[in-house]
Amino acid sequence: MFSRIKKSKSELRYDTINKDWIVVAEGRGKRPEDFKNKKEEQAEDSSPCVFCNYFTHSNTADKNFLIVPNKFPAFLPPHHSKIRGESRANKDNSLKSGNALFKTMPSVGFHEVVIFNDHSKQLTDFSISDWEGLFSAYQQKYLELSKERVVSYISIFHNHGKMAGASLNHPHSQIIAIPFFDITLEHSINSAKEFFFNKSQCLFCSMNRAEKVAKSRIILENNSFLAVCPFASKVNFEVVISPKKHLPYFEKITKEEKSELAQVFQVVLKKISYGLNNPDYNFYLHTSPCDDKDYLFYHWHFTIMPRVNVWAGFELGAGIEIITMLPEKAAEYLKNVKI
Ligand SMILES: [Zn+2]
Ligand SMILES: [Zn+2]
Repeated sequence: MFSRIKKSKSELRYDTINKDWIVVAEGRGKRPEDFKNKKEEQAEDSSPCVFCNYFTHSNTADKNFLIVPNKFPAFLPPHHSKIRGESRANKDNSLKSGNALFKTMPSVGFHEVVIFNDHSKQLTDFSISDWEGLFSAYQQKYLELSKERVVSYISIFHNHGKMAGASLNHPHSQIIAIPFFDITLEHSINSAKEFFFNKSQCLFCSMNRAEKVAKSRIILENNSFLAVCPFASKVNFEVVISPKKHLPYFEKITKEEKSELAQVFQVVLKKISYGLNNPDYNFYLHTSPCDDKDYLFYHWHFTIMPRVNVWAGFELGAGIEIITMLPEKAAEYLKNVKI
């Protein structure tokens, strides 16, 4: 049967200088030696795939996706810690401990893995109904986790390839539900809020309308979704897929919208894969937090980040990304990739 979450140590530490949280997750029990630079390529791991095992040893072989707790979670469910049932309203203060400079918080939350049932079937091989099934799996788990009292934000993401952080070849997405949200997301939420209150319009809807006028950064669109290389892309060939209609909450996506999103996602990912020779990539969802506050001014979207450039000293030191391909040229190129 399914293996249990390993006994792991994980905590949140506050970066007082940058006003940001980091997670220390020692679950995988790495020793300092494991981080030594390996000069020679390691031989491929020939041990049986743990994710294939989930399907082999369960009665879920007919399912396309299986969602299970991560064996080495970065965030531990409340029943693994003493803060079970903490309400959203007071958790911010009651969970924190330590002094002003070394503040910590238990890394309570949920870390789930969405395992695809076919080891060799990548997202680029997905049919429209596979994509719809994947979005339904995301939505279903989102709705379930958002009911948990400690959860304020749910992050859904997919890593493809080693450079993108995928530790196993077997295709899988991840869902992490946490008691707070990060400063980067907070910036994006605050920008949307400010824009909405100043102009009585959604920032993302306005951006989409402006992209429709400019045309040069659009890769493709259908009735409900638009795929663009953003004006200020952070990596070469970055793509944002967003609904044309103002939709703040991903979890409310309808059957029709899932189908339309599937059509756009399928084509965009194939274009990236065929056009850039199957690069490693990450994609992630940004949607409204689920902390009982009102986020009607926000607008959910997916961002796809191909790993085709490396953030170097300036990006890390000054926090300013350098891209070498004009987003307009990237969009033009992807638009013309035949799939
Ligand atoms: Zn496998
Ligand atoms: Zn909007």
